[in-house]
Amino acid sequence: MAAYLRPSSLDEALSALGDGAWTIIAGGTDYYPARVGLPLDDDILDISALSGLRSIRNDGGQWRIPALATWTDIQTADLPAWFDGLKAAAREVGGAQIQNAGTLCGNLCNASPAADGMPVLLSLDAEVELSSRAGIEVLPLAAFVQGNRRTALREDQLVSAVLIPAPGASKEGGRAGGCFLKLGARRYMVISISMVAAALEVDAVGLVTRAAVAVGACSEVAQRLPGLEAELIGKPVGAALGDAVLAEHFASLTPIADPRGTADYRLESAATLCRRALTQLGEAL
Ligand SMILES: Cc1cc2nc3c(=O)[nH]c(=O)nc-3n(C[C@H](O)[C@H](O)[C@H](O)COP(=O)(O)OP(=O)(O)OC[C@H]3O[C@@H](n4cnc5c(N)ncnc54)[C@H](O)[C@@H]3O)c2cc1C
Repeated sequence: MAAYLRPSSLDEALSALGDGAWTIIAGGTDYYPARVGLPLDDDILDISALSGLRSIRNDGGQWRIPALATWTDIQTADLPAWFDGLKAAAREVGGAQIQNAGTLCGNLCNASPAADGMPVLLSLDAEVELSSRAGIEVLPLAAFVQGNRRTALREDQLVSAVLIPAPGASKEGGRAGGCFLKLGARRYMVISISMVAAALEVDAVGLVTRAAVAVGACSEVAQRLPGLEAELIGKPVGAALGDAVLAEHFASLTPIADPRGTADYRLESAATLCRRALTQLGEAL
């Protein structure tokens, strides 16, 4: 018979993971819907009682979004404009019930090509903190998510937090902000056909000093667009930033065709979303 364990401390959870193979669940909003009609025979390690892994905080210049922070927690947290893209993504994941239960870390660990958390966290240079009895390991997000439903997580580890470095520009009189746009077959409660996240820092005279643009749902794992990012550096901030987007910037993407859209439609819509995101962010900053 399958086992169910709901530890109340991180040590207890890590000790269990060190002793055997468990399936971790946080909000359960990916895990349970994928098992409708199937026997529930996994040994479940339910981490939802680890109350120390809930509060989003700034730890000396680095933001920490722990394993149990839900999409609603992200929406309601007091975060700078750098996180506007992440907040926008949080508002677009499912509906209120999903946002109240589902976690950002669960979204990353599930490693769906259409995970709304991925592009926005790539644009923020996020890292993933993995905890086990052996200690803590920190991986860049791009190294953690390795493919469709594949991550670098070991059996004895859980993701304890996502770590996001604070932008530097505001300290020197500059500004920083983020944006997330998603296209689905309808406005809400929908899986992304394509999505784009952009994060920009500008200096005190309004020139772009840092640019990060990532596209999701157009390749096995969401990708940054380094060619476009390089193009943006040094440009004056404003709506014209959207004009920097060219078809060649999307050459590394490998979108699939499925009932939601053709590969060409995905690419075209990603380019349109990129233009809109950079125009909006350029105007806002
Ligand atoms: C109706 C509906 C609508 C949805 N809409 C969207 C949407 O618009 N966009 C979107 O991206 N997703 C959507 N989802 C998917 C899901 O809600 C999100 O991916 C959510 O963030 C998953 O978080 P969770 O805590 O519920 O994950 P869980 O279901 O608990 O876990 C998901 C996976 O991650 C693993 N895991 C979870 N936490 C950890 C951890 N801390 N360490 C190690 N492994 C862990 C689990 O083992 C499992 O493999 C939707 C789901 C439903 C049912």
